[in-house]
Amino acid sequence: MHHVLISDPDLADNSLLNKMLRSELVNCTSDLEVLRKDPNSPLYSVKSFEALSLKPEILKGVYGMGFNAPSKIQETALPSLLAEPPQNMIAQSQSGTGKTAAFVLTMLSRVDTSLNYPQCLCLAPTYELALQIGHVVEQMSKYMTSLRMVYAVRGGMRVTRGQLIDPHIVIGTPGTVLDWSTKFKVFDLKKIRVFVLDEADVMIATQGHQDQSIRVQRGLSKDCQMLLFSATYDSQVMKFAQAVVPDPIVIRLRREEESLKNIKQFFIRCSSLQEKFHALSNIYGAISIGQSMIFCHTRKAASWLAEQMTRQGHAVGMLSGELAVEQRAAVIERFRSAKEKVLITTNVSARGIDVEQVTVVVNFDLPVNMKGEADCETYLHRIGRTGRFGKRGLAINMVDGSRSMAIMQVIERHFERTIQKLDPDDIDQVE
Ligand code: ADP
Repeated sequence: MHHVLISDPDLADNSLLNKMLRSELVNCTSDLEVLRKDPNSPLYSVKSFEALSLKPEILKGVYGMGFNAPSKIQETALPSLLAEPPQNMIAQSQSGTGKTAAFVLTMLSRVDTSLNYPQCLCLAPTYELALQIGHVVEQMSKYMTSLRMVYAVRGGMRVTRGQLIDPHIVIGTPGTVLDWSTKFKVFDLKKIRVFVLDEADVMIATQGHQDQSIRVQRGLSKDCQMLLFSATYDSQVMKFAQAVVPDPIVIRLRREEESLKNIKQFFIRCSSLQEKFHALSNIYGAISIGQSMIFCHTRKAASWLAEQMTRQGHAVGMLSGELAVEQRAAVIERFRSAKEKVLITTNVSARGIDVEQVTVVVNFDLPVNMKGEADCETYLHRIGRTGRFGKRGLAINMVDGSRSMAIMQVIERHFERTIQKLDPDDIDQVE
């Protein structure tokens, strides 16, 4: 997919960003695929939460969160997740499709609050991501007044060797969970009924997490329900998934295909940075542009451009890798609420982040990979932000010299769609 999995420090940040920004389900119309099922129990799906015979206090919590019906992945996942005997599962779908809500619901359904020891264990890649899961637990368990939860994270609660803890649910990062369970022995892995490993793709990108997760999993009892969730699906994730989840049901919801169908693509020939900026100003001056995103190759070019455009009176937001996650979330939020109508970004900081409602995308620099070759996948991902939901989008590529011309031609051939030449002094042809 769009992620580089190995040693990518942005992965956990982007995942957190998406969660912070998300207030509702991602609309997904593709069909759910069942890649492996349990021969003994047929899979079925539900269209309502009532059909799941949940405890009344949980159902009340679910409705209290504003959920009316199960999401696409929940329709099929929940009946298996809640089945007796419990079934193991590996589920993949993009962020925002309802995975967290599904496994939190499972943990809450399986916990017995009259027993004072940890029965559900959830691993997350970072402290912040653990907190996000904890918030969902808090909301959904609002009417389960006796439920207790604890975070097993570095710098969190202090535990004393051998002194047992009594919360029902433990949410934590692999290292600390391993310490708590095997070094300090403050809870018994054998008593865990539900084990969840969330964001497996982010997990394996962090040094050591894969190993620690496997060591935690080895301490579990054979009849513990084991669940693994991931936003992306590739052989590396699946290899890890199979190692931590024996005999799973495997389900997958493919991401909506991005396409260039509804998008008009243009290019403008420029010979210098100044000329690129001049062309850009002409465009912004000539046509009414709603929300637009401009991609630059380097942070330096991005800041330069942001400064120039601000001087011209545009309300500009800038996204760059050096910003903290909260700052990036604030920039995206301002852009979403149209307080800033232009979002300038480098590729790295925008990868994997979902910003919709963009009408114009400008490639101030064409996307290239590490070797300087055309990066068609990134091109599609950038441009695919426009023209969604049947709306028409506009893409403008700045071409400055024979090398970038050649790159553009590779992109053209790859998608078999012509990119038309645009005269920056005659913008009318765009509309
Ligand atoms: P994921 O874990 O796949 O990223 P989440 O479980 O966090 O997805 O869900 C994404 C968003 O959709 C959250 O804001 C969540 O509250 C909401 N959501 C989840 N399930 C439902 C549902 N069945 N109905 C409505 N909203 C839902």
